[in-house]
Amino acid sequence: MHASTGMRDDFARIFGIETEYGVSVTGADRAVDAGQVAMTMFQPVVSRARSTNTYLTNGSRLYVDVGSHPEYAAAEALDPKDALLQDLAGERIMRRLAADAQTRLRASHGDHATIHVFKNNVDSAGHAFGCHENYLVRRFVKLELIEDQLLPFLITRQLYTGAGRFAESGFQITQRADFLDEAVSSATTRARPMINTRDEAHADPESYRRLHVIIGDSNRSQWATWVKLATTHLVLCVIEDAVRRGVPSGFEGLALTDAASANRTVSRFLDDPQAGLSIAGADGTAASLTPLQIQRRYFEVVESFVHAHGDRVAASMPNTSPQEILEAWDWALNALERGDIAALAGRVDWALKYRLAEAMRRRTPGISHTVLERLELEYHDVANGRLYDSLIAHGQLHEITDRQAADRAVSVAPQGTRAALRGAFVTAAQQANAQYSCDWTTFTLTSPVRHEAVLLDPFGTSPTPDFTVLMDALHAAQ
Ligand code: ATP
Ligand code: MG
Ligand code: MG
Repeated sequence: MHASTGMRDDFARIFGIETEYGVSVTGADRAVDAGQVAMTMFQPVVSRARSTNTYLTNGSRLYVDVGSHPEYAAAEALDPKDALLQDLAGERIMRRLAADAQTRLRASHGDHATIHVFKNNVDSAGHAFGCHENYLVRRFVKLELIEDQLLPFLITRQLYTGAGRFAESGFQITQRADFLDEAVSSATTRARPMINTRDEAHADPESYRRLHVIIGDSNRSQWATWVKLATTHLVLCVIEDAVRRGVPSGFEGLALTDAASANRTVSRFLDDPQAGLSIAGADGTAASLTPLQIQRRYFEVVESFVHAHGDRVAASMPNTSPQEILEAWDWALNALERGDIAALAGRVDWALKYRLAEAMRRRTPGISHTVLERLELEYHDVANGRLYDSLIAHGQLHEITDRQAADRAVSVAPQGTRAALRGAFVTAAQQANAQYSCDWTTFTLTSPVRHEAVLLDPFGTSPTPDFTVLMDALHAAQ
């Protein structure tokens, strides 16, 4: 059914999550800035790869981004659960780099030097950094359609995917709403768009685009990471299918008149759950719907789409069923409609944070903002934070993967995509002690001999002739 190259006419999608981490040190006997922390963490990477930018045996990319943020860009996955596992592998890799770096740092900066690696999106100085979702989308879907029909979904899905933040001005259900001011743009550093339109498909650009979603928060909840990819996938399936067949998608009329302001309203959902967002309206007459009403509209359209095309959508994902996505989504919307934050807290990061803060306030009335911020950092610290594990151990937060699978994903690439070939290449190159470099479509052996293979098809899992030559050269070098 699946050709190994060229356009696939089914609903198959490539998912990849990029997570930037914030780093800091406490307890050192003299100051250590973020740049030094990142460089200490990446010392082993640099000594092997001669660069702070490398690809790993699981097919992922590990690098230091501007602003001294270690970043893990997870390998291409065919299924939201595989993408989740790859993102969890990134947490483990960061934890390991931090533990090793901490040992070295203690030798020079005292026994109490402690490295923190935050999987969050805002640092104490008020700088925001990202968790980008990447979705392969058929090229025939125009960007205007993404803005009109997908963006209202992305903004309102934060009701169950937001990571929450104790902002000075009060609790927000998202981390980044105050930092995002544009709907779509090709820049991510100067302007702060919600969708990046820089055109880098990492695939055949005639057939595909890579939708680069900036608006999401980094999640510690596994359910939230999975559900944000999974629901977005179904919405994209509806949009693609409608364009393909030249029919309305059902999402007409939901375009937001002011996306940045809608985003801020959603982020302050708890202040007023009934606050309306202004939308263009189906016949061009402005209207207002609450974030939950907008989500329900999306849900209903997707639900009937799945009833009609469920089998074909199911065939596109090896480990997640469309039914399972609808159930999780419906569960979240029902809980939100009931205002049941307690139920949401087992899966939704912001709700969990909010509940923890409420419990602390009951014990200590008038608790300070600083204490809440500390609680929050503890939750996001994948290197030395203990809160997450304790919440899991006490059944207060649910995990949806098993730990062995996430451990395996540290070294093993997701199956069914080009990442498996990249993983095989990197593994062989490391075994041969050869020098190599990659980008998402090109694998290059630089020493002892130079060879290059271009793998344009992200769904391609069979070795191309170039790839075979490359691997033969590596085996000969072993
Ligand atoms: P920046 O850090 O500046 O945002 P970027 O988004 O261009 O850079 P990377 O950090 O290298 O690039 O991450 C690329 C992400 O895109 C990875 O998660 C990868 O798995 C994913 N990806 C690769 N190829 C495709 C594709 N064809 N379609 C969708 N996603 C892809
Ligand atoms: Mg990146
Ligand atoms: Mg990116």
